[in-house]
Amino acid sequence: YSGKKSNQAVVDSMTNMKVKDFQSIPVVISENVSVYDAICQMFLEDVGTLFVVDPNSYLTGVLSRKDLLRTSIGSQDLNHIPVHIIMTRMPNIAYCFKSDGLIQAAHKLIERQIDALPVVVQHPDGLEVVGRLTKTNITRAFLSLAENHDL
Ligand code: ADP
Repeated sequence: YSGKKSNQAVVDSMTNMKVKDFQSIPVVISENVSVYDAICQMFLEDVGTLFVVDPNSYLTGVLSRKDLLRTSIGSQDLNHIPVHIIMTRMPNIAYCFKSDGLIQAAHKLIERQIDALPVVVQHPDGLEVVGRLTKTNITRAFLSLAENHDL
């Protein structure tokens, strides 16, 4: 095998990697859930990012570990603060589609300095959350590339 040929094979595999091949299951909560319950959900579901949805199940916000920590070091009663008060909200949310290339999604994670993107389906009146793409998914993709090319 020439070096050129195997390099091209790696390039082809990388550019063919799609979000849908590596995405995880999203964990969503509603806007009126308390910060206390959101913290419990984060531990129970073992995720670092929760997505917040409205009654139509459309994406309205994102909650990270630090969003919840920041609120917790205040003296407020976490049972009485709904997550919509502290979440990062639309339209400031970075997201991706399942048909997007993994490289494009990785760019968004790095540019925005975030850990996860919601994978969405666009509807006329909102974004439905169908997946979660995290830095762990990118790391897994990186490893699968190495394994598939005997690196
Ligand atoms: P942490 O805050 O635990 O380090 P992140 O780096 O993912 O986790 O989040 C940093 C900030 O960016 C948080 O305020 C969070 O609400 C926000 N954030 C996380 N994911 C997104 C996203 N997909 N789009 C926009 N903002 C996000």
